[in-house]
Amino acid sequence: MENIRVRFAPSPTGLLHVGNARTALFNWLFARQQNGTFILRVEDTDIKRSALEYEEKLKKDLLWLGLDWDEGPDVGGAFGPYRQSLRLNTYKDYTQRLLDMGKAYHCFCSQEDLEAERKKALAKNGVAIYSGKCANISAAEALQRIKDGEKASVRLRTPDRGELTFRDLVRDELKFDLGLIGDPIIVRSTGHPAYNFAVVVDDSLMKITHVIRGEDHISNTPRQVLVYQALSCVPPQFVHLSMVMGRDKTRLSKRHGATAVDQFQKDGVLSSALFNYLALLGWAPQEDKEVLSREELIRLFDLKKVSRSAAIFDYDKLYWINRQHAKTLSVRQMAEMAYPHMKMAELLPEEMTDAHWDWLETAVKIFIERVDRFADFPSQVAMLFQYSPLEMDEETKKEMEGDCASKVISLFGQKIADVKQFDFERFVTITQEIKQDTGCKGKDLYHPLRIALTTRGSGLDLDKFIPLVEKGARLNLPRSLKNCSQRISEMLGYLKQHGSIRNEEAES
Ligand code: GLU
Repeated sequence: MENIRVRFAPSPTGLLHVGNARTALFNWLFARQQNGTFILRVEDTDIKRSALEYEEKLKKDLLWLGLDWDEGPDVGGAFGPYRQSLRLNTYKDYTQRLLDMGKAYHCFCSQEDLEAERKKALAKNGVAIYSGKCANISAAEALQRIKDGEKASVRLRTPDRGELTFRDLVRDELKFDLGLIGDPIIVRSTGHPAYNFAVVVDDSLMKITHVIRGEDHISNTPRQVLVYQALSCVPPQFVHLSMVMGRDKTRLSKRHGATAVDQFQKDGVLSSALFNYLALLGWAPQEDKEVLSREELIRLFDLKKVSRSAAIFDYDKLYWINRQHAKTLSVRQMAEMAYPHMKMAELLPEEMTDAHWDWLETAVKIFIERVDRFADFPSQVAMLFQYSPLEMDEETKKEMEGDCASKVISLFGQKIADVKQFDFERFVTITQEIKQDTGCKGKDLYHPLRIALTTRGSGLDLDKFIPLVEKGARLNLPRSLKNCSQRISEMLGYLKQHGSIRNEEAES
């Protein structure tokens, strides 16, 4: 069997976004499934835009997603170095070979010459193709001019008519008119190799069998195939993945929401969930199953079944998948995911005791159903910290005006005052007693109590709410949390002031 070798070849000019991460992931899945080799190659020949910080961050993001490489920077390999800026001598060597064979030539046209020529050609034919002006300068003359200090780029000599075809695994045969390509620059006048040249030298020396990348590179591929031909190398199998779009079918950008892998990580999306979701961008397993582990995806992935149509990035679906993955975590793992967000929102302290973790675990069990991402966690938990009867909405205030409401809450206030450790069992006993004493029952009994404890007419069930606030109130927290007894007495104070309870009733 063929020894599958694939590569992810990012340019370190920015953060890893989900489009590129999906490319990396498809390469990785294919390599892992085929027992092949996944290579990371850093394409940093654009010195102005490349930065080492981006490379470091890129590697971190890939590893966070679970995409480890078998050959590449840091880990090395038999075909290194794996950073293009360290391979300049190799490109020089291959350029010289092409020049020696007459398959490439020096071009002395300046930027201005080319621009003027481009404009003229555009006006005349509607297409701008290099005229081949320098193609006939003899090698000896070219050398002399370079010796004399003239700057030159290097161009590949290509046929000016005919058709070039290559096969793409997803798109079948693709045809290009050579008359529309012109002689591409392979080395810039600065001495730096052009992408279309460096990529071919590297892919062939690194024995890449499949080039899996974004469809924005389709138009580069004929130029690359011409370089393969000039070097007498067999091109790899090409696979061009469709673009990742927003729902409005425009290229996914910040306008649509988070696009950087780093941002999803910061928002508390699980790496297994983002991995799962990215795998479904332009591919779907045969069986109707969407929540899949890395192992299942390796098993099921089928490069031949990758779709050619645009992949729409659906945030809601990603968050749904995230919730499904979150459910498979242990409570402790969920608490650990939630903690940094709780700390940032100043709801939990820097120093966590066992009691703090215990409380967070209780909270996580209750709220996990309600959050898309762990970053949403504090806004859910924050409701426990907000208690202000004055801020109740009008409808809720009205509900506290009934006869039963005042009786029930007053009595509850008296009974809870005698309890040392209040909990849900106590709540049940006390409400039973109040039922007997007042004759208020059902909604008349429970609804005012729910409002008195939470200031809201709906929300968490009290068997969940009561232990959370009682345990939380005993902790040392950056913002204090009121216990049930404090809540009831504040509510009584409010009701007295606003006339729902006569003073004697409250005091009796
Ligand atoms: N450095 C190129 C990019 O980031 C690589 C393209 C390729 O995979 O050939 O787009």
